[in-house]
Amino acid sequence: MVFHDVLIIGGGLAGLRAAIEASKNGLNVAVISKVYPVRSHSVAAQGGINAALKSNDNWEDHAYDTVKGSDYLGDQDAIEIMCKEAPEDIRELERMGAVFSRDADGDIAQRPFGGAGFPRTCYLADRTGHGLLHLMFEQIRKYEVTVYPEWFVTDLIVEDNIARGAIALEMLTGRFHRLHAGALIMATGGYGRVFGITTNALTNTGDGMGLALRAGAPLMDMEFVQFHPTTLKRTGILITEAARGEGGYLLNSKGERFMKSYAPNAMELASRDVVSRAEQTEINEGRDINGCVYLDLRHLGREKILERLPQIRDISISFAGVDPIEEPIPIRPGMHYSMGGIMTDKDGKTPVEGLFAAGESACVSVHGANRLGGNSLLETIVFGRRAGQSVTEYCSGSKVAAFPKSALQDATRKAAMIFERDAGVKSSELLERVNSAMMECCGVFRTEEKMKEGLDRVRAVREDLPKVTLTDKGNVFNMELAGVYELEHIVDLAESILLGAIHRKESRGSHTRLEYPKRDDKDWMKHTLIYKDGPEMRIDHKDVTVTRFEPKERKY
Ligand SMILES: Cc1cc2nc3c(=O)[nH]c(=O)nc-3n(C[C@H](O)[C@H](O)[C@H](O)COP(=O)(O)OP(=O)(O)OC[C@H]3O[C@@H](n4cnc5c(N)ncnc54)[C@H](O)[C@@H]3O)c2cc1C
Repeated sequence: MVFHDVLIIGGGLAGLRAAIEASKNGLNVAVISKVYPVRSHSVAAQGGINAALKSNDNWEDHAYDTVKGSDYLGDQDAIEIMCKEAPEDIRELERMGAVFSRDADGDIAQRPFGGAGFPRTCYLADRTGHGLLHLMFEQIRKYEVTVYPEWFVTDLIVEDNIARGAIALEMLTGRFHRLHAGALIMATGGYGRVFGITTNALTNTGDGMGLALRAGAPLMDMEFVQFHPTTLKRTGILITEAARGEGGYLLNSKGERFMKSYAPNAMELASRDVVSRAEQTEINEGRDINGCVYLDLRHLGREKILERLPQIRDISISFAGVDPIEEPIPIRPGMHYSMGGIMTDKDGKTPVEGLFAAGESACVSVHGANRLGGNSLLETIVFGRRAGQSVTEYCSGSKVAAFPKSALQDATRKAAMIFERDAGVKSSELLERVNSAMMECCGVFRTEEKMKEGLDRVRAVREDLPKVTLTDKGNVFNMELAGVYELEHIVDLAESILLGAIHRKESRGSHTRLEYPKRDDKDWMKHTLIYKDGPEMRIDHKDVTVTRFEPKERKY
C-alpha cells in the first residue's frame, strides 16, 4: 500500500510547479502521469508567457487586457492575482535557470501578443514550453518528489465528499494500484481531443475533468472552446501567435489583409476569437484558398525567421511542404484550448474536500470566454504554486486514511470485463463519431439546430460504450485499454460542452451563436456550472466577480 500527503495527477507545468511548492513545504509529494512528465502537452507550448516586467508596463494594464480578452466573463479578483504575481514568478523561473531570450540590453525579451496592449510575452525562441517543462522536471529532482511515470489514473476515491486517493493502471505491467493520499491535485491539462482537428497532443483527453465531474465537483464554463486562428489544414498543428506577434500578416485569396475589416486597430493581433471568426467568415464567403487563408511571414526576412521562429519554419516545411521564408503558409482556425474546467477558487480548492485543481484542467476563472495567448503558461505557474501552498495548509489538518480494497477490486473487475468482451465495437470508431459530431456541430459558429444534432450523436455514442471491445488483449502498454477510459471522459466532456453551449443564449468570446449574435450582460453575465450527481447532467450558475473594470463593448 502506498501513502502520500499529496498526490498530484499530471506532470505538466501546473503539476510540477505545485509539486515543488508542496515539497518545499515539507510534504511527502508524488506526481503521477500517464506519459513520462516531459512529454506532457506543456512541452509543445511555443509562443511565450506573459508578465508586466518593464518599468513602462504595469500589472493593472495586463489585468485590463485579460478582462477585456475574456469578454468580461473572467473573475477579476483571480485575474488581479495572476497579473500581480506574474513578474515575481517569471523572475523565479529565471533564477531556477530558465533560458529566456534576451533583448539588446540583456533583459528578458518580450514580444507583442494578441489582445495585449503592450509587448509583455516572455519567450524562449518559439520553444517556451519545452524549456520551462524540462526546467521544472529538473527542479523536482532537487525536492525528492516521487514520480510514477506512465501510470494512468482510472478512478478517484472520494468518501463522504472527502478525497482519499486514486486507483491507477501501471502501463508497463497492466497492474492496478491503490494510492492513498491526504489530498489530490488535478493537473491533467485540456481536452482538445474531444475535437477531430486540434493543436493538442493525443494525450489531451480531459481525463481529470471527467474524473472530478464524477467525483462530485462541478465543471465551469465548458461551452467556451478556443479556436486558434493559425493551425495547419490537415493535421491541426499549431503555428504560434508569435508569428503574428513578430509581424506576420493574414491574407485572403485576393491578397488583402482582411483583418482591416474586422479589427482595424489591432489587425492580426486582435484577440483569438475575433481573428478566428474573421478567418472563418472569409472562408465561408469564398475568399479562401482551398479552405484556408494565408499567414505571410516573407517580409520578416530570413534572419528574423531563423532566430525567432525556427520551429515554425521546421513545422511548415515538414507538415505543409512550405518554407515560410519563400512562401505564405496556408492556415485556418483549429481547436486549441479549454477555457472551461474544474471549478476552483483562487487557491485551487474545489467543492470536494481535499480535491484541488490547477492549470488547464481547472477553471479559476482567469480566461472567461476567451483566453489571451501567453496567459495559460502563466496560469500553470501562478496557480500551480498557489495550489501547492494551499494543499500544504489543508494537509496540516488532515490525516491520510486508507480506503477500502474494494475500490481496487472494482477497477480490476471493470478492466477484466472489457478484456472478456468478444464482439462489439472498437473505441477508435466511437472516438471518431464524437470527434466528427463536435467538429460539425460545435465549431466557431454555432446554431441550436446543429448543437442539438451534436448532442444526439454524442448520446448515441454513450449508449454504445458498454459494447467496446479490444483487439489487443495484452497487459504490457495496452494503449487500447487506456483509450477506453479516455473515451468515457471524452463523451462526458463533449456532452457538457454541448449542454453549456445550447444553454447560453448569447454570443460572448469564443461562443458565437448565429441566432443570438450579441453579448447579453443582463441575462448572461454569469458562469455556467455542470454537475453530474446521477446519470444525468445538471446545469447551475455562479456570479462573475467584477472588481475594477465595468463591462463595456469590446473593440480591437
Ligand atoms: C501546441 C500548443 C502550444 C501552446 N502554446 C502556448 C503558449 O505559447 N503560451 C501559453 O500561455 N499557452 C500555450 N499553450 C497552452 C498551454 O501550453 C497549456 O494550457 C498548458 O501547458 C497546460 O499545462 P498543464 O500542466 O495544465 O497540463 P499538461 O501540460 O497538458 O499536462 C497534463 C498532465 O496530466 C497527465 N494526465 C492526464 N490524464 C491523466 C491520467 N488519466 N492519469 C495520469 N496522468 C494523466 C498527463 O500525463 C500530463 O502529465 C499551448 C498549447 C498547445 C497545445
